[in-house]
Amino acid sequence: MTLRYQIIPVTAFQQNCSLVWCDETLEAAVIDPGGDLARIRAAVQQQGVTLQAIWLTHAHIDHAGGTGQLSRELQLPIIGPHPGDQFWIDGLPQQSQMFGFPAAEPFTPTRWLADGDTVQIGRQTLNVRHCPGHTPGHVVFHSPQIARAFVGDVLFAGSIGRTDFPGGDHATLLASIRERLWPMGDETVFIPGHGPESSFGAERRSNPHVRDR
Ligand SMILES: [Zn+2]
Ligand SMILES: [Zn+2]
Repeated sequence: MTLRYQIIPVTAFQQNCSLVWCDETLEAAVIDPGGDLARIRAAVQQQGVTLQAIWLTHAHIDHAGGTGQLSRELQLPIIGPHPGDQFWIDGLPQQSQMFGFPAAEPFTPTRWLADGDTVQIGRQTLNVRHCPGHTPGHVVFHSPQIARAFVGDVLFAGSIGRTDFPGGDHATLLASIRERLWPMGDETVFIPGHGPESSFGAERRSNPHVRDR
């Protein structure tokens, strides 16, 4: 038995929403349903899985914009992010306007996450790490079993998250990457919020922002 996943790019920002599921129970969670809910629901149907929860890395509109509606329509609990992102959740209406997104339904997380927490889907458990810097309440989800990490906008192949938004901080982001992502292991493949997958080892070798010196 293992954890499986499918990446579903959503919104005009091509955000990597991920459908993750336990291949034994076929219970699934959706990470960062930023929008394009019909596309997400089609993937759920195509994989033959049952959605049980919404997991959020952070509350930017391209990651969280579809959360309220999806939660209401399918009666799904909203897990995450860390409470540091409450002001981003409160600001979703303004974020929608600013970026020309459909109006986001408001929501309240069912369960906030903290560093060291775990989340469960079927018989699979993922570890939660708090990785502030891009936003204060950003979390990532790590499956040691399949050596995958869903890292939102913390780290990208060859780049790192923006830190010029309110609550962003460059030094904090670098510390999150070095102290909380690198220990997951060089071989661990990460699914970033945008763009292609890479491994932590590859980024430690070649990413100009965070490579080993
Ligand atoms: Zn973001
Ligand atoms: Zn993003």
